[in-house]
Amino acid sequence: MMIRSAIARRLSSKPTSSSSSYAWLTATTSTTSFELVDQSLHGNHQKRRSSTSSLPVGLPSYMRAAVFWEPNKPLSIEEFHIPRPKSGEILIKTKACGVCHSDLHVLKGELPFASPCVVGHEITGEVVEHGPATDKKITERLPIGSNVVGAFIMPCGSCFFCSKGHDDLCEDFFAYNRAKGTLYDGETRLFLRSSGKPVYMYSMGGLAEYCVVPANGLAILPKSLPYTESAILGCAVFTAYGAMAHAAEVRPGDSVAIIGTGGVGSSCLQIARAFGASDIIAVDIQDDKLQKAKIFGATHVINAAKEDAVEKLLEITGGKGVDVAVEALGKPQTFLQCTQSVRDGGKAVFIGLTAAGAIGEVDINRLVRRKIKIIGSYGGRARQDLPKIVRLAESGIFDLTSAVSRKYKFEESDTAFQDLNQGKIVGRAVVEIM
Ligand SMILES: [Zn+2]
Ligand SMILES: [Zn+2]
Repeated sequence: MMIRSAIARRLSSKPTSSSSSYAWLTATTSTTSFELVDQSLHGNHQKRRSSTSSLPVGLPSYMRAAVFWEPNKPLSIEEFHIPRPKSGEILIKTKACGVCHSDLHVLKGELPFASPCVVGHEITGEVVEHGPATDKKITERLPIGSNVVGAFIMPCGSCFFCSKGHDDLCEDFFAYNRAKGTLYDGETRLFLRSSGKPVYMYSMGGLAEYCVVPANGLAILPKSLPYTESAILGCAVFTAYGAMAHAAEVRPGDSVAIIGTGGVGSSCLQIARAFGASDIIAVDIQDDKLQKAKIFGATHVINAAKEDAVEKLLEITGGKGVDVAVEALGKPQTFLQCTQSVRDGGKAVFIGLTAAGAIGEVDINRLVRRKIKIIGSYGGRARQDLPKIVRLAESGIFDLTSAVSRKYKFEESDTAFQDLNQGKIVGRAVVEIM
């Protein structure tokens, strides 16, 4: 207790209002202090949230995060208590967060989600704290001070699906995070500074200066990769990888069509190229996006606003259709087009989310007689895939630099989503939090 008091005295003189200008103590000092604080507070974790004396050395007491209150109202930046990680969870100093259509669906009220909440689910950052009693294997894999990237599907690691390695179907992630806006004990880690009121989390709630992430959702980011561009690895590239590796099982020489070449669709082009697809057909209605698609590996482009996409696609493939077609928009019209684009026995893969309750149509007889496969895919498998995805970027096989087209400051978070909504973003935008 004497040691704890000494730490408390030291902390009380630390600046707490601004995290961005704060310089971290040396690794040796902070590691020792973390252990002491954790021992002294063992079994008393709930009380740590509002107590500055229990925070590890170097951590401010408060942070800012962008809050979604209700549909079609702008995001507002609010002050929060620093979130506290629990066992098996990691506190991250967020460096960058990607701007994704899934968040936009929430902001527009198209995808129902608990509110108020902090959106943002595509992050990079620095490990600053391990939850108390976190397994040694985890603390060794993700040491304090390491750079990390977070997958938007944060697997619990032990449910029915996680046990089989199907992290993308994690029961806890869907039952708690997607259904309730919490982590897997049924509680959020976010509480407003002013009122103490809980605020829900869309995935880790990444549009914040700090966020808590279950360790299974994190992979080490090599220091050679930049924080800003690497943020897209956790959703845009993760989603593309899941679709190509597990749903489509793309093989060298396959023909692949990608319908919708935004952030996720253009990542699909790159992953298809990485997997050895020979013909890669990009379909969109914006010429600037199609121009850029060629940089990402498209061998053919189709502007669906100017020509019949399915007819043109059949023409390119000698009337057969493609081995794999991926729908990355989430629209009933393109759902149908996707099923019409695949060859007999081909795979139509769906990764675009849409408004709740939307229905897609399919020609039933063709589906039955010609053995068309219709496959949904939400994302990759964090524990197996995320390290591989990082390696693709590190080796340059996945080009991160051209994939990120626009950067915003944290204060501009709402503008970023407005621009995304107005189709102004070609490729992917990232909010820099630093
Ligand atoms: Zn996303
Ligand atoms: Zn699970």
